[in-house]
Amino acid sequence: MKPFIYDLTFDQLQEWLKENGEPAFRAGQIFDWIYVKRVMSFEEMSNLSKGLREKLMDNFQFVTLKEITHMKSSDGTIKFLFGLHDDNAIETVVMKHNYGNSVCVTTQVGCRVGCTFCASTLGGLKRDLTAGEIVAQVVAAQKILDKTDERVSSIVIMGIGEPFENYDATMAFLRNMIHEKGLNIGQRHITVSTSGIVPSIYKFAEENTQINLAISIHAPNDKLRSKLMPVNRRFPFDDVMTSLKFYQEKTGRRITFEYALIGGVNDQVEHAEELADVLQRMDMLAHVNLIPVNYVPERNYVRTPRNDIFKFHRALVDKGINATIRREQGHDIAAACGQLRSKHMESNAR
Ligand code: SF4
Repeated sequence: MKPFIYDLTFDQLQEWLKENGEPAFRAGQIFDWIYVKRVMSFEEMSNLSKGLREKLMDNFQFVTLKEITHMKSSDGTIKFLFGLHDDNAIETVVMKHNYGNSVCVTTQVGCRVGCTFCASTLGGLKRDLTAGEIVAQVVAAQKILDKTDERVSSIVIMGIGEPFENYDATMAFLRNMIHEKGLNIGQRHITVSTSGIVPSIYKFAEENTQINLAISIHAPNDKLRSKLMPVNRRFPFDDVMTSLKFYQEKTGRRITFEYALIGGVNDQVEHAEELADVLQRMDMLAHVNLIPVNYVPERNYVRTPRNDIFKFHRALVDKGINATIRREQGHDIAAACGQLRSKHMESNAR
């Protein structure tokens, strides 16, 4: 199968052009066609020679994301279920905020990390997405927003999959998003979220970007985290925290700690206090984002009562920790990662 044109970073495209006897500046023209004009065929690239267009056609293809379904929330959030060339399905979510539009992308078909509150991991990992298949989700979102003259202003890598287990494709995707000739999205408007793949956190610290890092922490200690997130047995709590500290020292960036509140499991005031103590002990520049867990029928977790969410939040703030309760978006359309795909898989299996 031919690689996707979106798989290539700007530097890789320049390299390919050089190898094929073409001037490097053509990379800028090609990026303009695919990211600014957002064409979906090489034939349309009218300022390239016929010979180059043919070479591109012979060597690359466009990603075809087939919309299987979409759901629109009353708050404007749209969740798409896209079919890939091999009949796998992925989710992409477009969220409307008062500060702009953000897109939540998927990096893998399924996930092997196994977080116990997550629908995306139920069927395991099918395969990694290529960089181009991740890019295509943002381009598809942008093409939808083009109709109302809006733009994608931020990206979160929090959809299906563990981006740091598909590291190279995720990095190539990010490079295309931030490239001035690509979608040119500000680095500080992009967040990559990991479950704590320690070697990749160290690698990411060395990438020299301003992209935000979020860690799905969900527990204040090793024992509880291992119960909720089996990945914690591979990369224990303390090792995760040490790698984050290294990342922070290297980049000077604040880290977001995602904490899904699960009724009666990890949502007591003592959990908040324990988390605050860890963050203070590590002298971590942190922001804790509290997320009331979405009901996943297969997992039987219940939501934390509203009052307890506020108590948890207050306990963190009282200990000097910067914390917010995430405004829920698309709750009425099951915007939690993996739920639309798992419903689709169920109905296909029937
Ligand atoms: S929460 Fe993310 S990392 Fe955990 S199982 Fe789901 S998709 Fe994988």
